[in-house]
Amino acid sequence: MKALACPHCQTPVSDGARVCSGCGAEVVRGATRRERFFTGAVFAVAAFLILTVVLRMFQIERGSLLLPSPKSDGALFIFLGLIGLLVFAYIIGKRVAHFLRRSQVRFYRVYRHQ
Ligand SMILES: [Zn+2]
Repeated sequence: MKALACPHCQTPVSDGARVCSGCGAEVVRGATRRERFFTGAVFAVAAFLILTVVLRMFQIERGSLLLPSPKSDGALFIFLGLIGLLVFAYIIGKRVAHFLRRSQVRFYRVYRHQ
């Protein structure tokens, strides 16, 4: 693993260090918030599409719709379950993004003005 140098002060930063010893810049590893959001959204959409396909296959095989009519009591359960599934897929996606980008390192430096 190659040694990292701080882009602000060129001081070598050791593995696992959270702060640059030269200038105090914050060392952050892993995916950015935007990357995590994007991957999470992709996972949620993928989960929705897979669910749609599965329900459609079920419908074709059975010859009837698996889902109850929107006015029945079960519809709310199904709806909440769907939301829960999408949220779950979103969280999994964020974790995957963080895992894939775990070697990415960013440096944040706060400049203080007197
Ligand atoms: Zn530094």
